Amino acid sequence: MNVSELFGSYVFNDAVMRERLPEETYFALKKAVKGGKSLDITVANTVATAMKDWAVSKGATHYTHWFQPMTGITAEKHDSFISPVGDGTVIMEFSGKELIKGESDASSFPSGGLRATFEARGYTAWDPTSYAFIKDNTLCIPTAFYSYGGHALDKKTPLLRSMELLNTQALRILRLFGNTTVERVITTVGAEQEYFLVDKELFNKRKDLVFTGRTLFGARPPKGQEMNDHYFGAIRPRVAEFMKDLDTELWKLGVLAKTEHNEAAPAQHEIAPIFSDTNTATDHNQITMEILKNVAERHGMKCLLHEKPFAGVNGSGKHNNWSIATDTGINLLEPGKSPHENAQFLLFLCSVIKAVDEYQDLLRLSIASAGNDHRLGSNEAPPAIISIFLGDELTKILDAIDSGSRYNNKENADMEIGVHVLPHFPKDTTDRNRTSPFAFTGNKFEFRMLGSSLSISGPNIILNTIIAEQLEQFADVLENADDFTSELNTLIRKTIREHKRIIFNGNGYDDAWVKEAEKRGLLNIKTTPEALDRYIDDKNIELFTKHRIFTKEEIFSRLEILYDNYCHTVSIEALTMIDMAKKDIIPSILKYEEHLATLVEIKQEKIGILPEPEKAVLLTLSKLCKDIYDETEYLEKTVASARSITDKKELSFYYKDSIIPAMETLRKSADEAETLLGTEYLPYPTYEDLLFGV
Ligand code: ADP
Ligand code: MG
Repeated sequence: MNVSELFGSYVFNDAVMRERLPEETYFALKKAVKGGKSLDITVANTVATAMKDWAVSKGATHYTHWFQPMTGITAEKHDSFISPVGDGTVIMEFSGKELIKGESDASSFPSGGLRATFEARGYTAWDPTSYAFIKDNTLCIPTAFYSYGGHALDKKTPLLRSMELLNTQALRILRLFGNTTVERVITTVGAEQEYFLVDKELFNKRKDLVFTGRTLFGARPPKGQEMNDHYFGAIRPRVAEFMKDLDTELWKLGVLAKTEHNEAAPAQHEIAPIFSDTNTATDHNQITMEILKNVAERHGMKCLLHEKPFAGVNGSGKHNNWSIATDTGINLLEPGKSPHENAQFLLFLCSVIKAVDEYQDLLRLSIASAGNDHRLGSNEAPPAIISIFLGDELTKILDAIDSGSRYNNKENADMEIGVHVLPHFPKDTTDRNRTSPFAFTGNKFEFRMLGSSLSISGPNIILNTIIAEQLEQFADVLENADDFTSELNTLIRKTIREHKRIIFNGNGYDDAWVKEAEKRGLLNIKTTPEALDRYIDDKNIELFTKHRIFTKEEIFSRLEILYDNYCHTVSIEALTMIDMAKKDIIPSILKYEEHLATLVEIKQEKIGILPEPEKAVLLTLSKLCKDIYDETEYLEKTVASARSITDKKELSFYYKDSIIPAMETLRKSADEAETLLGTEYLPYPTYEDLLFGV
């Protein structure tokens, strides 16, 4: 396999454009993309034809406007290129109009009330900043999705808005530092993706996996991950074949898949790409999740992207590595080599510190979901408390700046901003770093709270917006300063003083941290229902509307969708449990009981010996079976009562406080019964089968 020939071979990328577009069209397109301008229709027509010819040469027959509705997965509606010419034959055609704008029935996508019932239309608009690609003989054109009234119905539109905002504000800062050459600032993201692989046949035998993506029942296997023998261990042949195929598929689509390795839990793996601009990284992560599932299927497996597929076993997360870079290739979160660069670095660092402290709530809610609630705060994932890990060295420097004291580095010099060079601080890879929800890792921040199935769009919209907000505040002050350097010093010092409570370099898994965080006044929002309505806090509405990231209507509609997602998820899980208990678990227990009862009778009556073990197991199972029956009835009643609750917030709390505990009680009894059943009486494949079956 020639990787460099394969890579991006199904992408209408810059190289292809340069080759296939007339020079003036190529430059017109580049200019429009760079300036965020709309495209002239004649240019669009030329691009469309070139795209179509290229796609057809690669075997494509259809095209689709590929978009990211609020479902969290991608959507496509395929149209073929064919166009009749009147003599019974067709030609392959694709116009600029079809490239730029599409119309789609929006009624099947969640809109949170934004799409009035009489207006079911939604529109898709080409996003030329993300390359078109071919998947399954279809030319996929990345698009934004919006309503007839112009409201964003997707995850791409606000992301692009937030990137634009950050660009504007970061440029103001760079100009203040005398930089006149940078034309554009972008945010960069590398999303590390965790997942589980299980055997397809076993998967299909479990309704919980089929309907909800996670196991709702299941006793722990005798061997879990305690030996730590899976992490970075040798990859099993079946999985290695899968990974090879996965890389090939991703490379064709221009996804920079870089590392593949085993994760902490058995059957758990990770794929990490090389970072790119946030828009591309988001599209590529969506593609990666889709390809993971498709390729697994081809290899007789199922890829689980759920945040917590197995109780008692590590869940899956997604690490959002985030930084800011210029179009001249400078990483603005890289400590520099000159005093000047360092001052600039410290200012950008301060913008992150202040943003994370002031908007803990938004960051927390950006990763909130029913699935992620099972993961956060247990000893495998960061706690639900937001804090920043900076490492000891950098923290000491900030402390010295704060107190105006001497920083004891090798030169033993006073740390004066804009005068001294920061000492080189080594990248901190300690375990404490791994327990932090938001860690500085040398030249980028790693936001580690994301669940594995989440679109990374939401958290990045929040990151870009809250940090741009600080850059704007800083620029406002600095642009009006009489003495830039002294104002800069004051600003950095003040920011550190006021926001250093958010910095925590200790062990985030430690109980002591929960108490300490409370003392510091940091938020500890444990569940999704508690997090969601922070969205509509006055300060947050003001932030979003001021920067035109979301309109007020868009915020309220998104909140409604989040409540719906939470409630639907828990509801489907509860109904699946009821179904499994009644149809699979209770009948299995009864069958085994029948077998035991027969044995008891035979031993007692016909042979005349004491049936001790049979009787003991029978009695325990009998009691558990009654519990399971009662608890299922109770869960059913509890679910039925939810129907009378119309307020979405109230309903989400009802699911959290009444239904989830009822589900947990039922599970406990069923899992105990599972440990007593003979292997041939088990209702479905066990944890052991699933985790060690690939
Ligand atoms: P590790 O975290 O294992 O030390 P790396 O630091 O190399 O590994 O990278 C982890 C992830 O962070 C990768 O996906 C990488 O592409 C991404 N990354 C590296 N630099 C940046 C950056 N400047 N901006 C965004 N993501 C980055
Ligand atoms: Mg990581």
